[in-house]
Amino acid sequence: MLLSKISNEAYNKGLTGLEFAIGIPGSIGGAVRMNAGAYGNEIKDIVLSSEYLDKNLTLHKINNKDHEFKYRYSRFNENKSDIIISSVLQLKEGNKEEIKEKMNMNMNSRRKKQPINYPSGGSTFKRKDGYITAELIDKCNLKGYNVGDAYVSDKHAGFIVNKGNAKAKDVLLLIDIVKEKVHNKFNIDIELEIEVLGED
Ligand SMILES: Cc1cc2nc3c(=O)[nH]c(=O)nc-3n(C[C@H](O)[C@H](O)[C@H](O)COP(=O)(O)OP(=O)(O)OC[C@H]3O[C@@H](n4cnc5c(N)ncnc54)[C@H](O)[C@@H]3O)c2cc1C
Repeated sequence: MLLSKISNEAYNKGLTGLEFAIGIPGSIGGAVRMNAGAYGNEIKDIVLSSEYLDKNLTLHKINNKDHEFKYRYSRFNENKSDIIISSVLQLKEGNKEEIKEKMNMNMNSRRKKQPINYPSGGSTFKRKDGYITAELIDKCNLKGYNVGDAYVSDKHAGFIVNKGNAKAKDVLLLIDIVKEKVHNKFNIDIELEIEVLGED
């Protein structure tokens, strides 16, 4: 089920805790798998338990701690054949108007700061304590830099957007260039947040 649908459903029922998820594309399974988060909240804050099937189709039930959540990480990052089939989320009763206000604020902030008018994989690089990756990229004057139709967004340097017919290889080459320039200027090795599935 889509994360945004669950966030809207929580609002309809007057439940608070999922306002951060509005605007994050993807399913609840993908969000638990990568511990999706925004605006200071993460899925790990509300997951009570999950059920998954392993490669032998054995059903397992795990509690929050067993997910081994970290920043954009859970045990499912390592155990790639395990499929989450359900998760129990713990939300609190809240005030519907306040919930709606928070959701609108988050969505407006996304529209204002992120290049959501172009296809992208979301935030290309991880945020780390001590620096904001998008700022480092911006300071290397890379906003608008491109390889083919793959561009470092001129709205938010942390996003690589497809302005036409960019291929995975264009995006990957652009990523290498961004990493190298940031390394040369700041001696920092920025890490990918997106997952590379193919290279052509
Ligand atoms: C414009 C944009 C904005 C974004 N903003 C944010 C943000 O603010 N915060 C944030 O955290 N993320 C953000 N993302 C990333 C987004 O959260 C992920 O792309 C999404 O959560 C992945 O979920 P999915 O269902 O699309 O999974 P997929 O992309 O289909 O899969 C991602 C990985 O999860 C695995 N997976 C999927 N479902 C399951 C399951 N049921 N069980 C086990 N493994 C599974 C897949 O095998 C794959 O390895 C953004 C992405 C975009 C494009």
